Amino acid sequence: MKVHLKTLGCRLNEAELETWAQAFQKSGHAITKQAEDAQLIVLNSCAVTQDAARKSRQLVRRIHRDNPQAKLVVSGCYATLNTDEVAALMGVDLVVSNKDKDQLVEKTLTELDMDTMPTMSTEPGETSLFTRGRQRAFVKVQDGCRYRCTFCIVTVARGEESSRPVAAVIDEINALHQQGITEVILTGVHLGGYGSDLGNNLSDLIKAILAETEIPRLRLGSLEPWELPDDFFTLFANPRLMPHLHLPLQSGADSVLRRMARRCKTEEFAAIVRQLREQIPHFNITTDIIVGFPGETDEEWQTSYDFIKQTGFGHIHIFTYSSREGTKAASLPDQISTGIKKQRSQQLHELALGLKHDFCQLNIGQSFPVLWEGYSEALANGNRRVFGYTPNYLRVAAELDSLTNVENKTLTVRLSRLGEGYMAGEWLA
Ligand code: SF4
Repeated sequence: MKVHLKTLGCRLNEAELETWAQAFQKSGHAITKQAEDAQLIVLNSCAVTQDAARKSRQLVRRIHRDNPQAKLVVSGCYATLNTDEVAALMGVDLVVSNKDKDQLVEKTLTELDMDTMPTMSTEPGETSLFTRGRQRAFVKVQDGCRYRCTFCIVTVARGEESSRPVAAVIDEINALHQQGITEVILTGVHLGGYGSDLGNNLSDLIKAILAETEIPRLRLGSLEPWELPDDFFTLFANPRLMPHLHLPLQSGADSVLRRMARRCKTEEFAAIVRQLREQIPHFNITTDIIVGFPGETDEEWQTSYDFIKQTGFGHIHIFTYSSREGTKAASLPDQISTGIKKQRSQQLHELALGLKHDFCQLNIGQSFPVLWEGYSEALANGNRRVFGYTPNYLRVAAELDSLTNVENKTLTVRLSRLGEGYMAGEWLA
């Protein structure tokens, strides 16, 4: 899909455009400078003055007039302050308020049903699951992959595995910590392959980071659910290693997994999940699923659906299969029709929502240290609603007076109920 990004207003708006461009590209989409070529147009609007708001409004109208076929997403200050007005403008398909800007790409692809295959299975976790911010940073520790999953272009595009030396990773994390970063997410094209070229492994890297840095929170990015080192699970006993893993399952039917050339079948996946949950209460497991892989029969789909339901996930990133030139899967017979793919995707979206809800419910009543972010919303009583994440990556909101600053601090709350897109937390005295 071709995406055109446009902005009005400040430097921050421009910087966000850059971040979205990268995320769209990583999700397999192309950025175009020509609005008339695009299937999707994203406008980052501005409302700093009356004039800017007027220009934003005019621009929405012009964009739609010039390319009425394209889906149109509007974000930014004007869209946040006048959500209903913008949503009612002709041609606007989705409004993303400033508080959801970090998830704009994911929201757009999911809500407008435009999610296509990622370039590699590990990417969605990095690009859309985790929010980057002044307290959280990604550290890439590895590149390349030696596997050949049939839907993945990475072995063609990225080549052999190569890992950064432990010392270099530690230096980077120490420098980030000094700059005020509190949480680091380790990422790689095939993170589990870390060290295959150095004679060590991911456990060795994690142990060294925990020993030689004082970074308060260490989190792992998307991780293929196989070849995990023997002592890997024991590492989570250290509370600095966050109890959350994004393990791409891709399908819950072994016959489909075989056609995908995945190295982890459902039984092994279930064993990993069991072990993590037994060891660490409230461990959050999230995943990626591809629906409509070539040849996926009704029976396979049902098997997959049942396995996903039985396993339970805190979040599922759903991709509708689309064939990518250069991959083995593109030449597989029995490609699935768009109608069936849509139907399965919708079914899975509903299941995913229910499973997320179940996981959130499980956490109600628990107390967690939350890393608070800078973003807040004003409340009618003069207080603010502040946001942050628990160790197991639940988004939490809590009410705070307007004078106290909790940004980048870790303070504990008790989760009391489910809110809209967050869990409500109550401060512990
Ligand atoms: S493990 Fe498979 S999906 Fe993941 S990067 Fe390697 S080839 Fe791609």
